[in-house]
Amino acid sequence: MSRTVYVNGEYLPEEEAKVSIFDRGFLMADGVYEVTTVLDGKLVDFGGHAKRLERSLRELEMDAPCTMDELLEIHRQLIAKNGITDGTVYLQVTRGNPGDRDFSWPEPPVKPTLVLFTTAKPGFADSPLAKTGIEVITVPDIRWGRRDIKTVQLLYPSMAKMMAKKAGVSDAWFVEDGFVTEGYSNNAYIVKNGQIITRALSNDILHGITRAAVLRFAREAQMEVVERNFTPDEAYAADEAFCTSASAFVMPIVKIDAAVIGTGTPGHVATRLREIYIEEMRKAAI
Ligand code: PMP
Repeated sequence: MSRTVYVNGEYLPEEEAKVSIFDRGFLMADGVYEVTTVLDGKLVDFGGHAKRLERSLRELEMDAPCTMDELLEIHRQLIAKNGITDGTVYLQVTRGNPGDRDFSWPEPPVKPTLVLFTTAKPGFADSPLAKTGIEVITVPDIRWGRRDIKTVQLLYPSMAKMMAKKAGVSDAWFVEDGFVTEGYSNNAYIVKNGQIITRALSNDILHGITRAAVLRFAREAQMEVVERNFTPDEAYAADEAFCTSASAFVMPIVKIDAAVIGTGTPGHVATRLREIYIEEMRKAAI
């Protein structure tokens, strides 16, 4: 069924939505994005996503296409027009269409391009994968040095996903200088002797909105959180492993490369954090 999508001020059937071939998002990957989860027809942590979007735009000296209140209204309109109960809203802002291809940013700036669309994922908080856990492989992290900016340069993460698929698993964890950075589209964690271990925030990883919420809930539940680098070998020997993202919530990991993690079934910490996260986010959704 055709969706209603949003492009530069208009709500249109997806077949009629158009962006210029000169758009810098298309030619230069000069754009940023956010994916916000919808549960029960409401937005999960919209405030967190809006803040990160503003930061991504600021870091790239890109104009915001509208206010965050206007963005919230567009999200809500799309959820209503498409009858989304559970799913996601994808948002992308690019530096716009300067009318030709040029490495320099347009001076003065042109109007940013703003695109949003929904994806319905009925019942996705009850993913069967969360009950079995997923398997991951490790691959070298050869991405650029500003992974804290949520840009649409997703070619290497796509290649990593294909490497995972070829290896018969669903996910890949990136490794740089001997340490795990993050997953191809999620943040990475291990649990050892009751400690939840995850890499500290820096330019090396995306500052996950789900990561921030999950670490807050973990601390509130008196779980010990340690933000530090960890190696693949430590991960192989961990009691548990899991990843977090807006669309996967907290996802247990039961195998990393050839190593079965813990008992090979979802761990207690990951399972509990998933329950708390979904419960709290349902309550706070707007
Ligand atoms: N790291 C990377 C590289 C990602 O692409 C994502 C998801 N976009 C995340 C982490 C998780 O971020 P969030 O919890 O905000 O979805």
